[in-house]
Amino acid sequence: MNLVVVSNRVARARASEPLTGGLAAALLPVVEKSGAIWVGSSGRVRDGVHKDTFAEVEALGAGALALLDLPAAHYGGYYEGFANSALWPALHSRSDLIRASQDDYQSYREVNAFMARALMRFRKPDTAFWIQDYHFLALGAELRDLGVRNPIGFFLHTPWPARAIVGAVPHHRELVEAMLAYDLIGFQTDDDCENFLSYLQSELGLKIDDGVVTSRYGKSRCAVFPIGIDVEKFAVQAAKAATHPDVSRLRRSLNGEQLAIGVDRLDYSKGLVNRVKAFDRMLTSQPELKRTVSLLQIATPSRGTIEAYGNLQSELAKLVSDVNGRHGEADWMPIRYLNRGFNQTVLAGLYRTARVGVVTPLHDGMNLVAKEYVAAQNPADPGVLVLSKFAGAANELQTALLVNPHEIDGMSRAIATAFSMPLTERRMRWEAMMRKLRAGTIQQWFADFSDALQDAHASNKESASDLPAVESPKSWPLHVVGWRSGARVH
Ligand code: ADP
Repeated sequence: MNLVVVSNRVARARASEPLTGGLAAALLPVVEKSGAIWVGSSGRVRDGVHKDTFAEVEALGAGALALLDLPAAHYGGYYEGFANSALWPALHSRSDLIRASQDDYQSYREVNAFMARALMRFRKPDTAFWIQDYHFLALGAELRDLGVRNPIGFFLHTPWPARAIVGAVPHHRELVEAMLAYDLIGFQTDDDCENFLSYLQSELGLKIDDGVVTSRYGKSRCAVFPIGIDVEKFAVQAAKAATHPDVSRLRRSLNGEQLAIGVDRLDYSKGLVNRVKAFDRMLTSQPELKRTVSLLQIATPSRGTIEAYGNLQSELAKLVSDVNGRHGEADWMPIRYLNRGFNQTVLAGLYRTARVGVVTPLHDGMNLVAKEYVAAQNPADPGVLVLSKFAGAANELQTALLVNPHEIDGMSRAIATAFSMPLTERRMRWEAMMRKLRAGTIQQWFADFSDALQDAHASNKESASDLPAVESPKSWPLHVVGWRSGARVH
C-alpha cells in the first residue's frame, strides 16, 4: 500500500526545533518510518493568479513531505475562520465561542476542494489516503467527487461532542454527510464515537449496524483508535536530557523545592485559568507549602489573531502576575510562566525534573502531554500525574490522580496530594500507566488504523462501485523542489 497522509500542519524533522501541537508531534516518527507521503500546508499562501497547486517536496525518513501553499483568498476564512472559530470551539463544547460567517464556510469548502485537487498528483492505483482532523472534514467527499475510489480514512484528533453542540455549527448536516465519504472514521474515545453515531441516527435518520453506516457514498465504518506516543524513545530522550544544560540549570534553580509542570498550547480548552487558580488556592489553604513547591507553566501562544485567544492570553498573564504578587517573596516565585516553545529533548528533561505533571484540560481529544510526562519519568523515583477526567488520556491513565477541572478546590487538594505522595505509591501508579502506554504506542495506532482502513475499504468496494465514474483532472502542474531520486510524485 502507498500511503498519503494529509493534515493541515506538518512537522519538519529537525530535533532542535520546537514541535508544538499534538498532531504534528505524534505523526512525525511514524510517518518517517512508514515511507508515506505526508501532505500539508506550507504555512504560506499564494494568490489566485497562480491557478496551479504549488508543492515543495522534501525527503522525510523513508517517505516524503509535501508542503502546499494554500489559496490566499481563502486561507483566513478557512483557518482562523471556520476551522478555528466554528469547528474547534464546538468540538470542545464551547458553542458560546462560535464565530463564523457564510464566507468562512465557503473558504473552508474551497480549501478542502483545493487540497483534493492537489492530492490527485499523489494518487496511484494502490494509494490509500489518510486524512487528519477537523480542518478537512469534507476532503473525502471532494476526493470522491473527483472520481477517487481508493481507500480514504479520516481520524479526528479532537473530541466529538453531544448532538446539541454539533447542531450549533453552521452547515453541520452538510459537513457530517460529507464525512460519510470516508471508508473509515476514527475517534479517540468511545464517547466521541458514540456521540457521532447518535448524531447520524437522530439528526440524519441513518441506520447503524455494528458501527457501520450506509449512505449514498456506500459504507463508512466508525471506530475508536486512541492515539499513543513513542514511549521508549521519549523515555530514553528524557534520561539523556537530565544532563542538558537547560535542564541542569532548572534543577539548580529549584534549591530543593519540588516542581509541578504544565505544558500546553495557550488554548481555552486547556483549563489554564482554573489550573492557576487551583495552585493559588493550594498556597492560600496550605501556606506551609510556600518555598517548598512551585509551578512551571509553559503556555505557547497559538491562533493569536482570534479574539478568544487574545483575551485568554491577557487574562492568564494578569492572573499569574496577581498570584505571584500575592504569594511571592523577594527570593521565591510560586509560578514561572513562559510563553515559548522548547525542543523535544529539553521538554522531556523538564518533565522528568518535575515531581508533579498537571494536565487539566476542560476538554481534550487525547492530550499527549499527559502521556509524555509519564513516559519521561525516572522509574526509580517517578512523579505523579494530575489529570483531568475530560482528557481522552484519562480512559487509559486511570492511576493518575483524576480531577474535575471545573472544581478548583478538588484540583488544589489533588496537587497537594501529588506533592506529598510516598515513593511506593508513586511507583505503583506510574508502572500501571506505563503498561498502558506500552500497550498503545503511536506505532500500534498507525498500524491499527492502516489495517482497519484496508479492511473497511475491502468490505465497502461493492457499494462504492455503484458510484458514477468522474474523470480526474490531468492538468495540475506541480513544482517539486529538493526531491531525491526515485520520485514518487508524477
Ligand atoms: P494539542 O494538540 O491540543 O496542542 P496535545 O497535548 O495533544 O495538545 O499535544 C501537544 C504537543 O505539543 C505535545 O507533543 C507537546 O510536547 C508539544 N508542545 C506543547 N507545548 C510545547 C512547547 N512549549 N514546546 C515544545 N513542545 C510543546
